[in-house]
Amino acid sequence: MTSNEIRKRAARRRRYFVLLLLVIIALIFAVTKIVSRAKESVPAMHQGEPNDSLVVIDDSRSTETAEASTDPGVTAAEGETYTPITETGEPGKQVSSHGSLYTVKPHIYVRINHQKKIPLSLAGGITPDEIRWTTNNANIVDVEAGGYVTGLEKGECTVTASYKGEVLSIPVTVRELNVIDGCTFVDDILVANKSYSLPQSYDPGLLPVTEQAFEKLCDDAAAEGLDIHQGSGYRSYDFQVKVYNSMVSGYSKEYADTWSARPGYSEHQTGYTIDCNDIQNEGFADSPAGEWLAEHCHEYGFIIRYPEGKEDITGYNYESWHIRYVGIEHATAIYEQDLTLEEYLDIDSKYADDETDSENEE
Ligand SMILES: [Zn+2]
Repeated sequence: MTSNEIRKRAARRRRYFVLLLLVIIALIFAVTKIVSRAKESVPAMHQGEPNDSLVVIDDSRSTETAEASTDPGVTAAEGETYTPITETGEPGKQVSSHGSLYTVKPHIYVRINHQKKIPLSLAGGITPDEIRWTTNNANIVDVEAGGYVTGLEKGECTVTASYKGEVLSIPVTVRELNVIDGCTFVDDILVANKSYSLPQSYDPGLLPVTEQAFEKLCDDAAAEGLDIHQGSGYRSYDFQVKVYNSMVSGYSKEYADTWSARPGYSEHQTGYTIDCNDIQNEGFADSPAGEWLAEHCHEYGFIIRYPEGKEDITGYNYESWHIRYVGIEHATAIYEQDLTLEEYLDIDSKYADDETDSENEE
């Protein structure tokens, strides 16, 4: 091949290369144009949504509206003026995207055939009549105007409060109470309080699951230089007879009932309960070990069973040392939502004779 031929061939290759490059650039340009047009049309659809006020909102649409509402430029429906709720002041509580709706109960727990009202705060200018309530599963709950939720069937669903296309979704758990061999279970949790007792024959001892979780808790506390140990653990029915009666004779029945359980009503008989360190040591709450226990026991599946300020709900004085095993998942939900076991399971804790208070205990 002559040098002339080589040059010609090289020139031809360059022309092909340039042509190919031009074709690629044209293709990229065309594709970009198509993609950007497609993108433009999506937000245009969403932007219209929050203003489609007062139309029935089904669930799929609610989700889309909630997403679209994250755009800070979108305000209340046209012509509407109200003062949005700007902050909740309570971590973990829910406020809707534009601050129209707010609830202090981020999760509702209700038993079958029980009714609960979802507490809803409204931005200034909105009336409760303007709120539309819906559920995504009418088999599990019934929801009425005013946010009244009735449990129908065991399960989980979502109840939604909506105002002019703005939504607040609240998860609802419907629980079921069952009595098996004289023991009361709400879902999978064994209950012993002033309303629900255990039979004398129920005598499991401190359960291994409780023992193992408590051992881990103590080890981790010790690693931080804190002493947490078992003061009192399992108490049988017969032992509780002695504990309760000695309190009644030493003080009074009223005093005994706020500090100790009647036989059969003690949570210590469940096998899931431990009193840490020195029982009824009121200084424990403010000690480093007591503070650590309150902050961390849920990580091991325990709850502070009788919290401060909830005496009317649990039926017992605050006991910073009394922990109950419910498993990590339940304990974490109870801790994070600042609940008692009674609120979490939607149960009472009252002796049947509390009103009359006439009988004398043996
Ligand atoms: Zn106790």
